[in-house]
Amino acid sequence: SSIPKIVILGAGYGGVLTSLRLQKELNYNEADVTLVNKHDYHYITTHLHMPAAGTDNPENARVNISKLIDEFKIDFVKSTVVQIRPQDRKVILEDGTLSYDYLIVGLGGEPETFGIPGLGEHAMNIRSINSVRLIREHIEYQFARFKREPHRTDFLTFIVGGAGFTGIEFIGELADRIPELCKQFDVDTSLVKIINIEAAPTALPGFDPELVEYAMQVLQKKGVTFRIGTAIKECTPDGVVVGEGEEIKSQTVIWTGGVRGNRLIEEAGFETMRGRVKVDEFLRAPGHENIYILGDNSLVFNPEGRPYPPTAQMAMQQGVNCAHNLVASIRNQPLKTYTYVSKGTVASLGKGEAIGVAFGKKYKGRLAAWLKKAIDLRYLFIIGGIPLVLRKGKFL
Ligand code: FAD
Ligand code: NAD
Repeated sequence: SSIPKIVILGAGYGGVLTSLRLQKELNYNEADVTLVNKHDYHYITTHLHMPAAGTDNPENARVNISKLIDEFKIDFVKSTVVQIRPQDRKVILEDGTLSYDYLIVGLGGEPETFGIPGLGEHAMNIRSINSVRLIREHIEYQFARFKREPHRTDFLTFIVGGAGFTGIEFIGELADRIPELCKQFDVDTSLVKIINIEAAPTALPGFDPELVEYAMQVLQKKGVTFRIGTAIKECTPDGVVVGEGEEIKSQTVIWTGGVRGNRLIEEAGFETMRGRVKVDEFLRAPGHENIYILGDNSLVFNPEGRPYPPTAQMAMQQGVNCAHNLVASIRNQPLKTYTYVSKGTVASLGKGEAIGVAFGKKYKGRLAAWLKKAIDLRYLFIIGGIPLVLRKGKFL
């Protein structure tokens, strides 16, 4: 048929927002839209630190895609993308092929290991529902193992590599969970160590120093040890090697040292930096007028020429802009330039504690924690309205 085919890869923040906008803005029979995702659910990545530590149920961090999109307007295909072929305008799935006129790539990033030996094999990542269920079970299992081999205190040492926002949010939750686990397994809390290792001269490099100081104090009070200015050099089955060869024994290493673009992007032949495509002002891959790249796979520069950090906030805005430009392309109307508008940054430090900068002001403690809840609820509202807020929202 002559109806243009739009294929959206990935139902993350970028893919879902593009889909929701398209189903609202496109007229009947104006385009054929297909959304492809590995799972039949969308996961709320920004909540994953909680189920990873076991302070929340993983079910609260995922939503069935059928509850989000209108399947009369968008075809959903549950499959894994294995190759993108821009030269043929095709996408190869594990179980089939799709051809497209417009392609939107929202496959999310991958853990960046910087080639550090052993990290890929022996460390765990906070990435998906499956990866956080593994972390949660693994942590509980270490307590059970320790009860059988009480001389193995290394079973009770938990290492988090990287004190970016992901690492900091996770240790906040982990520090809340440990006393619960100690009670459940009859373990003396003083035997447990939570060590956050950060290579840079400060935790949360680049963030407001006063708030960083506050965050470290809150976390230290909860029992976290920081090793700042200390790089992880290697990860082994028995722990990590840091700095000038010091070994820290642990059976649990969670790597939160950074994110890169999806391998499928560079394999497709796009020009990338750390796996990300420097998109044009309309969010398209250079040289490809029909391919949009969103979220953690895109690289957008600020007016000073530095790349913005990849966030859910940005992926969502890009999804809205991308849907607008797809509709405009189909209708032969002018495209709209994408400009990032920061609404601020708020990071949780566990129950009742957070830090943040928003509306040009700094927040910490309970007020910041409340702001974080409000941001989480707002997202549920945007993608699924009041019913989703009531089903998955946390209000306490
Ligand atoms: P993602 O949301 O990662 O989605 C990618 C989708 O593609 C997934 O559904 C995945 O299953 C699917 N997929 C991947 N590969 C394939 C394949 N081969 N075939 C088919 N489907 C595939 N950002 C903020 O702005 N605020 C926050 O508070 C915040 N908190 C965070 C907390 C944590 C613990 C983490 C890890 C990140 C946080 N971020 C936050 C960053 C934010 O989550 C990411 O920037 C955002 O998820 C990127 O969105 P995306 O659309 O690019 O991809
Ligand atoms: P990141 O890249 O922001 O932080 C990684 C940290 O690991 C850095 O501080 C880096 O110095 C450190 N590191 C790198 N190599 C190391 C090594 N060998 N040894 C020790 N430390 C090392 O990654 P992230 O925290 O996963 O965040 C990814 C993106 O998601 C960012 O853009 C972030 O802003 C966003 N995010 C936002 C929130 C929020 O707003 N609440 C929460 C989580 C993530």
